[in-house]
Amino acid sequence: MNGGRLSTTAPSFPRRGDGSTMSTMTPLEKSDLVRRLGLEAGFDEVGIAEAAPIRRLGCFVDWLEQGRHGEMAYLSRAADVRVDPRRLLSGARSVIVAVQSYKPAEEHEEAGGLDGSRGRIARYAWGRDYHRVHRKKLQRLVQRLREAMGEMFEARVCVDTAPMIEREVAAAAGVGWIGKNTLVLHPRLGSYLFLGEIVTTLELAPSAPMADHCGSCTRCLEACPTQAFPAAYRMDATRCTAYLTIEHRGEIPRDLQSAMGDWVFGCDICQEVCPHNSKAPATSEPAYGLSERFPLSPRPMLDVLLNMTEEQRQAYLAGSAMKRATLAMLKRNAAIAGENQAGNQRIKKSYRQNGDGVSPT
Ligand code: SF4
Ligand code: SF4
Repeated sequence: MNGGRLSTTAPSFPRRGDGSTMSTMTPLEKSDLVRRLGLEAGFDEVGIAEAAPIRRLGCFVDWLEQGRHGEMAYLSRAADVRVDPRRLLSGARSVIVAVQSYKPAEEHEEAGGLDGSRGRIARYAWGRDYHRVHRKKLQRLVQRLREAMGEMFEARVCVDTAPMIEREVAAAAGVGWIGKNTLVLHPRLGSYLFLGEIVTTLELAPSAPMADHCGSCTRCLEACPTQAFPAAYRMDATRCTAYLTIEHRGEIPRDLQSAMGDWVFGCDICQEVCPHNSKAPATSEPAYGLSERFPLSPRPMLDVLLNMTEEQRQAYLAGSAMKRATLAMLKRNAAIAGENQAGNQRIKKSYRQNGDGVSPT
């Protein structure tokens, strides 16, 4: 998967009047180097987009105007920056997109059992928080590029933190296509992908966009239990279990609760059914696998969540992307998951007795 090793000895480069060096490489040669060093750094795919306004802007604006982003008000803030990566870095000319699969080697059932006493956590949150892991790798890549190119350039690393329509930039960089489930898909890696970007002043040759390989498939649209897809390539976040369990702070509408199943943090159903994921390889990044450090993953005992203290939440979730959910949200989600587990009367009774503000209704 990784490219061949490159010499780390920087050749001598011409100097500018101020003494700084500049590369004699062409944009295409630099792009080849970026890709090779990116793969060598452990990323699964690397692509390059021109730093330019997002082309498919209409979808994003429609989505916001229809209120399908729910309580994620930050998505409508700085919308003018979000649609143009050049607003993130003065003089930006290119965006490097680096992709890492987080598809685990294990499955939920094997790892947790199905006795109705457990919840289910989305795969992206089983291991260490990708924000930190991905960011550090991107920062190291910038350092390697500076060494190998011998050229001064500015770079801003973004991992889900800067205002950017990340999936559109990823598609423009040719690292995948946006599937009918609205996620970025790669023909070999599937959709269990973390994305990260380096907005840079480097002039690079853009990668070719990838064709859409969804074809006539509609599995994700049909499998969604909350009917969160009003149409192919459109997602109503306000109906999505991932949004409801991770972002939504208040009460969850009753009609959606019963469709949420046993998910207590996120939902993977529209990815589980995707044929591109069934043949995708497991992640090569150990940080994203199951670990004793995160005892709640992948199927936490609902009793544990319901009786958890804030101190325990902080201890269990230190270094995990799950810490985004507050204690009240985790208890709310666990209560709903318990109600949804048909036949587990003991669990249901326990929720009602525990009624410390965690009732799902
Ligand atoms: S994550 Fe789950 S609830 Fe959300 S769109 Fe996919 S299948 Fe539907
Ligand atoms: S399930 Fe089918 S339609 Fe949905 S993203 Fe995968 S290939 Fe595309």
